[in-house]
Amino acid sequence: MNATPVPQSKIGAALVDPGRGEHLWTILTMYRVGDNAIRRMNNGENPGVGLLDHENLMTLEGPGCFKCEQPYSKYIAHRKCTGSMGDPA
Ligand SMILES: [Zn+2]
Repeated sequence: MNATPVPQSKIGAALVDPGRGEHLWTILTMYRVGDNAIRRMNNGENPGVGLLDHENLMTLEGPGCFKCEQPYSKYIAHRKCTGSMGDPA
C-alpha cells in the first residue's frame, strides 16, 4: 500500500491565481472511499490509513486549465489564458 500524504494545509485550501493571462494547469484525481472509512468519518474518527492510496485511486482527469477550463494542448498552452478564478460576486 502506497498512501499519499496530504498536508493539513492543503485540505480545502484556497487556489491562488498565477496571474492574469497565465493558465493554472491542474490534474484532478478521484479516490474511492470505502464504507468503513465513511463510517469512521461519520463518527468523527480518523478514517485510517489508505484513504488516498493507489488501490483506491479511480481516475485522473487532465491536465486542464482551472481558469479557462480548456484541456491541455500545445496550442492552448502557447495562448494567453482568457479565464478567471471564478465569479467575483
Ligand atoms: Zn487557462
